[in-house]
Amino acid sequence: MKAKYSVVVPCYNEEETVNAFYDAVIPVMESLKEPYEIIFVNDGSRDRTEQLLKELAQKDKNVKVINFSRNFGQQPAILAGFKEAEGDAVIDIDVDLQDPVEAIPEMIKKWKEGFDVVHGKRLVRKGETFFKKKTSTMYTNFFEKITGLKIPKNCGDFKLFDRKVIDVLTNMNERDRFLRGMTEWVGFKQTYVEFERKERVAGQTKYNLKKLVKLATNGIVSNSSYPLSFSMKFGILGGVLSVCTFITFIVLACLKIYLPLVSWLFPTIVLCFSINWVLGGLSNIYTARIYSEVQDRPKYIIREKINFDNDDNKQ
Ligand code: UDP
Ligand code: MG
Repeated sequence: MKAKYSVVVPCYNEEETVNAFYDAVIPVMESLKEPYEIIFVNDGSRDRTEQLLKELAQKDKNVKVINFSRNFGQQPAILAGFKEAEGDAVIDIDVDLQDPVEAIPEMIKKWKEGFDVVHGKRLVRKGETFFKKKTSTMYTNFFEKITGLKIPKNCGDFKLFDRKVIDVLTNMNERDRFLRGMTEWVGFKQTYVEFERKERVAGQTKYNLKKLVKLATNGIVSNSSYPLSFSMKFGILGGVLSVCTFITFIVLACLKIYLPLVSWLFPTIVLCFSINWVLGGLSNIYTARIYSEVQDRPKYIIREKINFDNDDNKQ
């Protein structure tokens, strides 16, 4: 029978948590009394994760496993799970039980009320260092400022998506994915349920600083061309400043106030640099266009069509 709910679970070196997650999630999914599937995506683990997942899949046909050829990262793992998911509602959740599986029925309730995306919002964030919480809030604010996308505060990737949102997200073929930004970008009717984020049930975080920086950079770069505009802005500012300085020097010279010849060097150098920055900025404008074309996001997304013969959501 086709699953109504799909739970997508990325796993990287999670031998200490997969069984605990399975034991916790099954009673919750069973309590819904509707068909479901749990898709574990093994993101190139080097420990016993693969073996444990195979054992689970053998004893439980609702468990499906995708094994990556190497570690590609959490975001590609989520995408793989989304592509395979057959549910009408798809829930993305970490395997370490930091996000409570008990919140899933609440999310489904919101979905049944008509919401297309239900975010899991953390009220308390246990098991996260002060540094991680602080940098995460700063990043969210910075992201919002430069991309204009309001990603809900204190929400990670624990979310429920309606089938139509999953179809849109999986058809967005960009390489460097940042689900939180993409979820905001696609729109639809969104809400959240609140929960207390616990500590990991076992093991260590799989996000080292390098992976975090990569994710944060992907988020900005794939959602904003703002950094590319710096060169043009600097160039224009430098150009205006140097021209003003030249005018001041000329006025002073007319008033017979002669500055040492070397003073003229400063605005001359700034002007040369500024021309360079403006020209660089021009090519950046085209680079941003090319990036946006290559990214090839849908030009619009239809949520609903009324009184059309064919009510498929075409993009
Ligand atoms: N994860 C993954 N690939 C990676 C890193 C992490 O699939 O390269 C998974 C991990 O197994 C977990 C989820 O992504 O299910 C979140 O990772 P983690 O709990 O380490 O992140 P944190 O909660 O510390 O931000
Ligand atoms: Mg975690």
